[in-house]
Amino acid sequence: MTSDRVEREIDAQWSEISEQLRAEIGEAAFQSWIKPISVREQEAGSVKITVPTRFMRDWIAAHYVDRLTELWAVRDASVASVDINVQPDRYAQPAPEKTLTDGSYSGPQRRVNDADKEKTVRRDDISAPLDARFMFDKFVVGKPNEFAYAAARRVAEAEIVPFNPLFLYGGVGLGKTHLMHAIAWHIRQLTPQRNVMYLSAEKFMYQFVRALREQNTVDFKSQFRSVDVLMIDDVQFISGKESTQEEFFHTFNALVDQGRQIVISADKSPSDLEGMEERLISRLNCGLVADIHATTYELRLGILQSKAEQLGVDVPPKVLEFLAHKITSNVRELEGGLNRVVAHSQLIGRDISLEATQEVLHDLLRANDRRVTIEEIQKRVSQHFNIRVSDMHSARRARSVARPRQVAMYLAKQLTSRSLPEIGRKFGGRDHTTVMHAVKKVDELRERDSSFAEDVELLRRMLEG
Ligand code: ADP
Ligand code: MG
Repeated sequence: MTSDRVEREIDAQWSEISEQLRAEIGEAAFQSWIKPISVREQEAGSVKITVPTRFMRDWIAAHYVDRLTELWAVRDASVASVDINVQPDRYAQPAPEKTLTDGSYSGPQRRVNDADKEKTVRRDDISAPLDARFMFDKFVVGKPNEFAYAAARRVAEAEIVPFNPLFLYGGVGLGKTHLMHAIAWHIRQLTPQRNVMYLSAEKFMYQFVRALREQNTVDFKSQFRSVDVLMIDDVQFISGKESTQEEFFHTFNALVDQGRQIVISADKSPSDLEGMEERLISRLNCGLVADIHATTYELRLGILQSKAEQLGVDVPPKVLEFLAHKITSNVRELEGGLNRVVAHSQLIGRDISLEATQEVLHDLLRANDRRVTIEEIQKRVSQHFNIRVSDMHSARRARSVARPRQVAMYLAKQLTSRSLPEIGRKFGGRDHTTVMHAVKKVDELRERDSSFAEDVELLRRMLEG
């Protein structure tokens, strides 16, 4: 068989299988989980499919993959398994419409091939893939983010650089990456000839360090020379990394001098970034600095409504309001909460209710109930053990201060949503492994020593209350 015929065959099988599944699992579940699947190829008894998100992959793997395999094996006895891969930018690249219809047929198979082709063309490009969900039309605008949104749109639509750099900052999960991808999408669609490069600061650093190791900084530099728009996400990551900052500074200046647009994001304003060189800070402050504030109830509700609509499920307004009230930490958690509720209802085949929501999300809701800061924890714990708050940050290792410090780290892990590195930073810039060790140590001590366990429990209750 020619490869074209094989493709067509797989395609035909897939449309039969997905129709059958539609009948079995119902329209809503079909739209959420099966429709987004693309069938890539079949090789050595294994069918390869791709889905746009990891969440979907896990969900399909847990709930549908066995049935998929069965249905496939009925049509083709050589099929023994179905492999699921994640390909976020599958619908991604601009100009698909034309290529899709000029072939003898179009369908899922074809689309994937187009995405593949695109990838090979861009193989030596260090730009990270863009998430197809992160476009302007999927970004819900409200008071806390309207300024950042307007600035991002301006950069995306402008023919000449309106401000340089655009510096977006805000807490975790408030939409910085979403806005950056949206800018990139918009420019790539509007003016595909412009070269847009998006990457995390971490990747920037990694590439740079690799270039140093391979003594190939010339290539590294030339990668950026042809860039029209450079976007670097989470730039706080290079704080304290001097040579990377140096290189970044030069790249930055060279591009600005040539009138190229730069967009940067960070979790803090330029002046609050610790461990950044002065001259870099002043460069970063030169353009437009736009912050994204913590979400309001109205914005959270708006986001939930939009996400529910995208998932194609009916969620009672009561449930959305409840989630918007309860999950206040960040949009990522809000979205995750909604996804879990939806997944649960589809699994057990029942409508979404307030009761079910409370049950499914009890852990998340509890975490959001506690709004303790690390500073409060440090203060309370210091008082309790009668040490100075400054000892929480100091390098002193005497047991009398080290133990309370470990307790505070432990409570910070339990009572806040901060990550281990974030906690480490708040304790005098300690490493995340130190925090991990502290958590383990305190757990061990609680097991062994009941009065210590009571102490910790008491502190926890005071902080939560
Ligand atoms: P950050 O980069 O600031 O940590 P992200 O951009 O990754 O946050 O956003 C986290 C998640 O929340 C993403 O799935 C994103 O689509 C979603 N999100 C954040 N803000 C909004 C918004 N205003 N409208 C719609 N989705 C949003
Ligand atoms: Mg981000």
